[in-house]
Amino acid sequence: MREYKLYIGGAWQDNTDGEVMDDFNPATGELMARVHMAGAADAEKALAAAHAARAVWGSAQPDVRERLLLRAADVMEARAEELTELMIAESGSARYKARGEVLGSAGVLRVAAGECRRVHGEVLQPTAAGQVSMAVRAPLGVVLGITPFNYPLILAVKKLAYAIGAGDPFILKPSPLTPAIGLAIAEVFEAAGLPAGVLNVVPGRSEVIGDLLVDDPRVKMVTFTGSSAVGRSIAVRAARDLKKVAMELGGKNPMIVLADYGAEKAADIAAYGAFCHQGQVCMATSRIIVEEPVYETFCAALVRRAEGLKVGDPREEDTIIGPLIQPNKWEFIDGQIADAVGKGAGLLTGGRHEGPWYWPTVLSGVTPEMRIFHEETFGPVTSVVRARDAEHALALCNDNEYGLSAALLTHDLEKAWSLSLRMEAGMVHVNDTTFLSGTTAPSGGVKFSGFGREGGRYSMEDFTELKWLTMQVEDKKMPF
Ligand code: NAP
Repeated sequence: MREYKLYIGGAWQDNTDGEVMDDFNPATGELMARVHMAGAADAEKALAAAHAARAVWGSAQPDVRERLLLRAADVMEARAEELTELMIAESGSARYKARGEVLGSAGVLRVAAGECRRVHGEVLQPTAAGQVSMAVRAPLGVVLGITPFNYPLILAVKKLAYAIGAGDPFILKPSPLTPAIGLAIAEVFEAAGLPAGVLNVVPGRSEVIGDLLVDDPRVKMVTFTGSSAVGRSIAVRAARDLKKVAMELGGKNPMIVLADYGAEKAADIAAYGAFCHQGQVCMATSRIIVEEPVYETFCAALVRRAEGLKVGDPREEDTIIGPLIQPNKWEFIDGQIADAVGKGAGLLTGGRHEGPWYWPTVLSGVTPEMRIFHEETFGPVTSVVRARDAEHALALCNDNEYGLSAALLTHDLEKAWSLSLRMEAGMVHVNDTTFLSGTTAPSGGVKFSGFGREGGRYSMEDFTELKWLTMQVEDKKMPF
């Protein structure tokens, strides 16, 4: 059994005042690791180490940062099997998801490496004769990243790769449900030759180190991925010091299926979006709004897809539905389903659990009066909603406080254009799933799903400060 220590200032350290936590495999219940959790003194050490690395790393040339990220990508790929096994064991990810996440993370490191040479400024119109006027981008300073359990590797890498690439030392607080994966990122960077203090990984409980890290004046930006409720509380805290924040939050992602689109193909797209990683996906397709004429055939096709998914041991190659990582999550899911069924929804399949496994579930006849129409589930449950026509579908789509990702299935170009522009989401995909991510595309939400955009140059913009710089090279007369 592995023991994981904290990674601070380029060294593996025992915690000084936190607990050593037992880390259990959610599928087998076995103790898989013991993890040093950071206490207040450890958080202070991480802050000091990151702060001390600021000057050297902030002035490192782009090619130095680029090489580090490329080497980290190589190490990650070389360790892909080991990291995949860790992901399966710690997070209950099925093999296809774990492998995809590891390789996807190596890809993100390469994209971030490429961005290092593209942090450009601009020469501006002078405001006076004899003036050189520029917009330049400078590193921000220490960035704090707080990440959730569901995609514990790629969501952290999407933050720290760009921040480090932009010249910002980084402190990662991974979820206490997946601390070993967070620390494995430090192992990858250490093997890649990371200078001390540039990346510090401190798993810890938010009630112990959360406020302390967020409030510290040495932290110049907090980049958070997680639930909207927690995101809001962190944004409010950070606002007291006018600290920069980026918020990648929850979603209740609609997919509109118009009558011209084939029900079978629509069910394929919906099943992937709804059930990938047991629905523990921020962009999960959780409200499927179907136009009347194809409603019944779509429901039948989706039920067939759901019932064909293998539920079981995440290590097995053909398993699609692994365990839920949060113990007793089934109680919350059962509650949402009971509320919907009590108000007239149909439970077409699923709705049952065994230990940490929850069967893929399809509800029909879901309406805005039901909790599940509005609340995130974060489990393998999707709701089918009946729409009279395209405009009614749009109204149902936007009747939600979240606005992360949305999809629209239609071959009618006019409707595709007109509806997609009016769908309230940070990401809209026509004829594809809501669960789409791209390394260079701007990823993020609107409304209660947050603000800020991650990916490629958008991340680089977020992790740098834009500064107006002028040089008066000829004598200038002042007004008085
Ligand atoms: P969560 O409960 O919000 O926790 C996320 C992280 O925040 C954890 O590391 C948690 O640590 C930490 N945290 C909680 N309170 C904090 C505080 N006051 N100060 C500092 N850190 C604090 O989310 P989750 O249950 O792990 O993940 C599921 C949620 O993430 C869903 O809502 C999902 O939609 C969202 N998500 C969004 C995206 C996106 O890109 N938009 C991607 C993935 C997931 P503790 O456990 O110690 O509190």
